[in-house]
Amino acid sequence: MIFKQIFDVESSTYTYYIADVKSGEAVLIDPVDTHINDYLDLLKQHQCRLKYSLETHVHADHITGGGLLRKKTDALTGVASACGAQAADLQLNDGDEIKFAQEVIKVIATPGHTPGSISFLWRDRLFTGDSLLINGCGRTDFQDGSATNLFESIANKIFTLPDETLIYPGHDYNGRHVSSVAQEKAINPRVAGKTLNEFIEIMNNLNLPKPKLIDIAVPANRMCGLPEPEVVQG
Ligand code: FE
Repeated sequence: MIFKQIFDVESSTYTYYIADVKSGEAVLIDPVDTHINDYLDLLKQHQCRLKYSLETHVHADHITGGGLLRKKTDALTGVASACGAQAADLQLNDGDEIKFAQEVIKVIATPGHTPGSISFLWRDRLFTGDSLLINGCGRTDFQDGSATNLFESIANKIFTLPDETLIYPGHDYNGRHVSSVAQEKAINPRVAGKTLNEFIEIMNNLNLPKPKLIDIAVPANRMCGLPEPEVVQG
């Protein structure tokens, strides 16, 4: 099994590539449109076919590569049903299982950053998107975000997984790569030892600037990153 974490410098986004050379099947989580050739090179190098291109949510800071990958490979795109991305092939819900090779990726709904935010659990690794970052979490002040829902997702979903579960976030802005449930429970300054009200107070006072790409990225990502919905023949 091959596992790679790929970084987009522009948006500090992490994309995850999981490939099983034996069966020749691969999956990407949160691909970025400007890195399509990198992903295609990996697939070629490992002689794998992309089975699924999955999204943790509709991103505001970069355009997904999902639609382009679907065009260039026969991958199916997967987004949470609550994202309003009708163009995606799979409308994912809490508890769904995505199967490739002999592997299972479990969908865990972790709303809050956006209503349609999900995390993907594969083996001992949780891909949290922006629901939980290393020492932080995604903002909740746009895209119908909810600090209350995010706190509940972190406390009741993510933090109930085994302590040794590895946390692979959707972004990192400080050169960190991976954390664990135990570490985030212990030292994440937004949530460690915090009550819901304390968390809401923190989230309401982040005073972050609006993402540069939001007005372009959100509508584009509802279409899997392509300018128009594709016409399905037949
Ligand atoms: Fe986000």
